[in-house]
Amino acid sequence: MPDDNRLYSYSAVLMGSPILLKLFTHDDALASRVFRLIKQYENLLTVNRAQSQVMDINHAAGKHPVAVSRPVFELIRCAKAASQCKDSAFNLAIGPLVKRWKIGFHGDSVPPANDIAALLRLTDPADVVLDEAHCSVMLLKPGMAIDLGAIAKGYIADRVRDFLRQEGTECALINLGGNIQTLGSPHGGWSVGLKKPFAGDELIGALTVENRSVVTSGIYERYFEHNGKRYHHILDPRSGYPLDNELDSVTIVSKESIDGDIWTTLMYGMGVEKGCAVLHARPDIEAIFVTKTKEVVLSSARHFRFTLLDNCYRVTDSIA
Ligand code: AMP
Ligand code: MG
Repeated sequence: MPDDNRLYSYSAVLMGSPILLKLFTHDDALASRVFRLIKQYENLLTVNRAQSQVMDINHAAGKHPVAVSRPVFELIRCAKAASQCKDSAFNLAIGPLVKRWKIGFHGDSVPPANDIAALLRLTDPADVVLDEAHCSVMLLKPGMAIDLGAIAKGYIADRVRDFLRQEGTECALINLGGNIQTLGSPHGGWSVGLKKPFAGDELIGALTVENRSVVTSGIYERYFEHNGKRYHHILDPRSGYPLDNELDSVTIVSKESIDGDIWTTLMYGMGVEKGCAVLHARPDIEAIFVTKTKEVVLSSARHFRFTLLDNCYRVTDSIA
C-alpha cells in the first residue's frame, strides 16, 4: 500500500485509444517504458495497418503458413480456443466481416445480405491452423483474416501489469480505453467508473476493486446509424450482423484482463439469463450487464463493490 495518497497520471494515445497510467510515484521514465511496451505489442498485433505479424498471416491467407513470435502464437491459440467454446460468440476469424462493415471507421455501411453470406464462409475458426513446432499460423482460405481487436487490449493490459510488478511497483492502474488492469490496493481500493451508455463521460455507478481487471464492451463505443437503426461493432459470428439483444454493455471483473476481454464478447452473445447461468460455474469471472431497460444485473459480486450513482438505473442480483 502506498505511503501517501498522491497519485500521478500519465497519458498517451495508442491503439487508437486514450491510454491512462496511474502510479503512486512520480516516474516519467517508467511511464515511458510502459507506453513503449504497449506500442511494441500494438506493432505485432494490429490489423489497422498494412504491416504487423497478424497482417503477415492475413496477407498469406490461402497461400502459406507464417512463422510468428511466441507471444503472438500463444495469443492466437488462446483466441482460437475461445472461438471454439460451446455457444461462443467470439470468433478470431471475424476479420473479413469487420473489414466489410468498417463500423466506426470512414465508409461504414450496411453490406448487402449476399456479401455477408459469402464472407461468413471465410470465418470458420477451424480454418485457422496452428503449427506448434514451427510457431506458425496458416489461414486455409484466400480472403480469410484474423482480427484480435476483441482480445489484444486485455492481453496487453496483463503484460503491462506483469512489467510493473517486475519493476517493483506495488500499486498501479492501466486503462487501455475500456480495458483496465489494477495492481495492488491503494487505500480503499481502486474506483472504476461504469459508463452510462450513449452519455459521454456520465457514470451509472462505480466499482471498487483490488488486484483485478475491469473490462467493458458496449454498443455505444463504436457504431453508425442507417435508416434509424443502430449498427454497433460487436458482430454475431452466426449471422454476420451486429449482435442484437437486450444489452447496452457488459463489464467483466476478473483476475486476468485477457479473460475479461474474451468474456465480454461471450456474455454479449449469451445475454443476461444464459450468461449468469454459465458464470455460476466460473466464480473467477463476474459480469455486470447493463440492459437497454436500465437494469444493472450483477452475476455475482465477490471481488468488487458496486455503488449506484444514477437513480434511473435499478440494480438486481443474478437471476440464475
Ligand atoms: P471489444 O471492444 O473487446 O468488444 O472488441 C471489439 C472488436 O473486436 C471489434 O471492433 C472487432 O475488431 C472485433 N470483433 C467484432 N465482433 C467480434 C466477434 N464476434 N468476435 C471476436 N472479435 C470481434
Ligand atoms: Mg473484448
